[in-house]
Amino acid sequence: MRAAVIEELGKPLTVRDVPDPVCPPDGAILRVGANGICRTDWALWAGQFWTGGPSLTPPFVLGHEFAGTLVDVGRDVRDWREGDRVLFPMNPGCGSCAMCRDGHQQVCDNVDTLVPGVSYWGAFAEYVMVRHADVNLVRVPDPLGFTEVAALSCRYMTAFHGVVDQARVRGGEWVAVHGAGGGMGLATVEIAAATGANVIAIDLTEEKLAAARALGAVHTVNATESDPVEAVQTLTHGGAHVSVDAVGIAEACRNSVRSLRTRGRHLQLGHTTGAEQGDVPLPVDVMLVKELEFRSAFGMQAQRFGTMLAMIESGRLHPGRIVSRTVGLGGAGTVLAELAAYGPTGVVVIDDFRS
Ligand SMILES: [Zn+2]
Ligand SMILES: [Zn+2]
Repeated sequence: MRAAVIEELGKPLTVRDVPDPVCPPDGAILRVGANGICRTDWALWAGQFWTGGPSLTPPFVLGHEFAGTLVDVGRDVRDWREGDRVLFPMNPGCGSCAMCRDGHQQVCDNVDTLVPGVSYWGAFAEYVMVRHADVNLVRVPDPLGFTEVAALSCRYMTAFHGVVDQARVRGGEWVAVHGAGGGMGLATVEIAAATGANVIAIDLTEEKLAAARALGAVHTVNATESDPVEAVQTLTHGGAHVSVDAVGIAEACRNSVRSLRTRGRHLQLGHTTGAEQGDVPLPVDVMLVKELEFRSAFGMQAQRFGTMLAMIESGRLHPGRIVSRTVGLGGAGTVLAELAAYGPTGVVVIDDFRS
């Protein structure tokens, strides 16, 4: 099969033939229809993950957010057949640890060995293997295309779990999204707006703020022109009910916490990078006296997709709108380089695996 291979960290990818993946008894093989590219890919490729986070040994094939058609199903798999159209939630579960048995596969105790494109070769390729298929696949409704749903399987689903399950956003609340113009940020804006919240989008370029407005933000703040904390405090008459760090940089995280009103909820959706090394100093005394909550989301388990897919099928959410462009395998390396500087608006998806 064709794949875009990391031969050396931080260097251009090589598109070449590699061996097809092998199907385990409880796993499955997908012919990849589309695969999104995110800052996790950039951090792995650049060797910039947080302290203690994953690292790669080349040669390696990235790709953890994908959808496609099953072409092989292991003999122990009960629920799936060849030809089924599926998407794969990026942080899968083993199905048998304590977290999985509690229904929280997205924080499986054994996740380190299970993630395509992180633990083993992923979907910057024509085919990809997934493990524990009965636990980790989601059926794609017929009207939805692979490019659109590939955008769901990392940032969009994490934003949904974060906004709906973790931060428990309610209609009428103020939600501030710091780093609103990336894939995670735009997903958060659209989902929070669809719940009935008043969304304030904060980012650094007018292009990204315009994209956020198009997805439902009622106010935008250009952080190169005005202090985002003061702007949110003024617009909301005392602070947001929920504030989100959608990028994972120290300044966005602190600004998010400082944007909150008393008893507000901070939602962390972005990993830090090598610059923070996993640690961000926070105003703990303010968090104490205001009784602020610090919540996070790390993906979403397969069985939680039903309500999100229903909102997509009914036209209330449009994950395809956060896809800013598509590329072939040969263009994936360029996108990784752009992500170093938080370049692309929204999500870039690979949808051509032969060129
Ligand atoms: Zn991702
Ligand atoms: Zn597990």
